[in-house]
Amino acid sequence: MIIPELLAPAGNLEKLEAALAYGADAVYLGIDRFSLRAGSACLSLPELAKACDLAGHYGRRLYLTLNAFLRPGEEADFRRLLMELRPLPVDAYIVADPGALAMVRDADPERSLHLSTQANVTSAGAAQFWQALGVKRLNLARELTLEEIRAIRAQVSLELEVFVHGALCVAYSGRCLLSAAMTGRSANRGECAHPCRWNYAVQEETRPGEAFGIEEDARGTYLFNSRDLRLIEHLPRLIAAGVDSLKIEGRMKSRYYVAAVTRVYRAALDAFRADPAAWRVDPLWLEELETVSHRPYGSGFLFDSAETGVHPADSRYRQSHLFVGAVLDDGGPHGWLVEGRNRFAVGDALELIGPGMRQTRFNLQIARNEDGEPLGIIQPNARVRLELPSGARAGDLLRKARTASGAIA
Ligand code: SF4
Repeated sequence: MIIPELLAPAGNLEKLEAALAYGADAVYLGIDRFSLRAGSACLSLPELAKACDLAGHYGRRLYLTLNAFLRPGEEADFRRLLMELRPLPVDAYIVADPGALAMVRDADPERSLHLSTQANVTSAGAAQFWQALGVKRLNLARELTLEEIRAIRAQVSLELEVFVHGALCVAYSGRCLLSAAMTGRSANRGECAHPCRWNYAVQEETRPGEAFGIEEDARGTYLFNSRDLRLIEHLPRLIAAGVDSLKIEGRMKSRYYVAAVTRVYRAALDAFRADPAAWRVDPLWLEELETVSHRPYGSGFLFDSAETGVHPADSRYRQSHLFVGAVLDDGGPHGWLVEGRNRFAVGDALELIGPGMRQTRFNLQIARNEDGEPLGIIQPNARVRLELPSGARAGDLLRKARTASGAIA
């Protein structure tokens, strides 16, 4: 049985490093043009060159998202970009637009092509159509059931990729106009304002300004909201279905999110590789997936579409822990160099986490600024020297538990 690739998001170089260090076999990322993410979730072209070096250093694969649907007037820019990208050792381009696909085949025929979930492939016929056009791998539509994934696998030979973790749209991915219609920010251009997660009321047409509230909880009603996807419990079934790549959603998510989620799925896949018959969901994996910001989890459309979709009771984001700092070096006589991400203090109960499910709880005793002066409070973005448990390494992350009310413990 083939263990699928674990494919993690990398919204910037820092997140790329986290994805690689915490166990991704491959990463996907976008640059500031023709990628369905805007602003901070994209790399510049020089950063992409660095990203290729870093992935090469780790011996992992790197895929570039070029999955925007092109508009008239954009083709020439897209062609120019393809020529600029050509020297870079990107393992595959992820495309959705048939015109973009044709241009890559023309300008860069040796480049592997993956089809984005934006193309909404839901049948073997569609998969074969894309394969005949040169696609090596496709990301199946999130809306397919396990049975349907199996049926497609039985009829096609190209690589199949599925999302296993992260946010779900309530519409077919990429086919949603809510954001473009309500805010002018098009989801298909990577600028979704997520209006599906807002709360809504009912208004009778002739009574403007008189909205009727519909209450699901004290905060209102979230008619279009969906749960987040979490398929870790179903990995053996996905592996048995013959899926080649398991993809984690979240180029906009934090470095901590990428590290924490990647390391859990890495651990689960490694456990399966070691002994498929003895594989069980480790409660620690589920606990760890609670530490990152997420909405209530579900299994998407894998078994029963009614289970996902709207979450009737509570659609708020939650996370059991707060990311407070990243370890930047391997330590020395004055402690480990740490960059703060959220405010924390000497005396706090913290956890240090690292690749391979390494984690240690400790109370922070000593903090100093870079001049060696003692500190009581560590502010976001401050660079400080901390006394950490032995075994801490560059790339480890620090977190702090929240209380049940959401406050920081
Ligand atoms: S509004 Fe919601 S469903 Fe529509 S694209 Fe954005 S996240 Fe997806």
